[in-house]
Amino acid sequence: MRYEGAVYRPPSEAYSLILQVTVGCSNNTCTFCNMYKAKTFHIHTVEEVLEDLQEARDMYTYIDRIFLADGDALVYKTEDLLKILDAIKRLVPECQRVSSYATPRSLLLKSQEELDLLHEHGLSMLYLGLESGCDEVLAHVHKGATAAEIVLAGQKAKKAGYTLSVTILSGLGGVEKTREHALDTAKALSEMKPDYIGEMTLNIIPGTKLYEEYKNGTFVMPGPVEILEETKRMIQHIDDEGAVFRSNHVSNYVNIRGTFNEGRDDMVRQIDRAISSGNFRVRHYTNM
Ligand code: SF4
Repeated sequence: MRYEGAVYRPPSEAYSLILQVTVGCSNNTCTFCNMYKAKTFHIHTVEEVLEDLQEARDMYTYIDRIFLADGDALVYKTEDLLKILDAIKRLVPECQRVSSYATPRSLLLKSQEELDLLHEHGLSMLYLGLESGCDEVLAHVHKGATAAEIVLAGQKAKKAGYTLSVTILSGLGGVEKTREHALDTAKALSEMKPDYIGEMTLNIIPGTKLYEEYKNGTFVMPGPVEILEETKRMIQHIDDEGAVFRSNHVSNYVNIRGTFNEGRDDMVRQIDRAISSGNFRVRHYTNM
């Protein structure tokens, strides 16, 4: 397998075969993210990807999930991605799920017909980073898309039949925008209606622009209770029937899990209990 650099995948892809079809992130502008800063974005050719797939096939007798890395496999030309998906069907007939990250821009650039076709050929799940539904927050961190654009991207994916998992980032609005961040994120999620909502809490990573702002005091990170209050406010305003909410990432102060809308009150109680007991994970939001 020709893996280049550090390879990232969502927690739920821990047991998937990682097939690196692109290297890096085609966006790579977000001021809080350093995942792909060391990589210059490029793609692996179809031939290279098929060689890797064959190598994996020769190595493993059973592969039930494949994750197409890196940050944005959907940026791949549709006709080439179809060749890869067809090869997966042929070589790995037991594969139950093929998934990838998708940036808002790559989803918006693909036509609805292209997204439908990719889904028909086996791409079944997409992970989309909303981070925040607040335009001021998104502009501040150079996300490269507005909330309305990300919602539209997610709606296109849902319309094509993908299972959609959306990531949000607690604390991204700082102390100043915590309220707007919570309410606008709830609104965007309610409009997009993802199947899964994954919450992570912001880590301020040395070397990023956000770290500089944190160090010079122009970005103030909310504390644990403020973060939990932010999550609670957001959860109270999400309308997404059947969506599974998870905050089981190590970055979070508390692991919360529930299913909307029925489980909303229970999730709020989980947060209230954590706040009143002070029983939450010790974490350092920066390793300065
Ligand atoms: S789009 Fe995602 S992977 Fe790319 S820079 Fe932003 S947060 Fe990082």
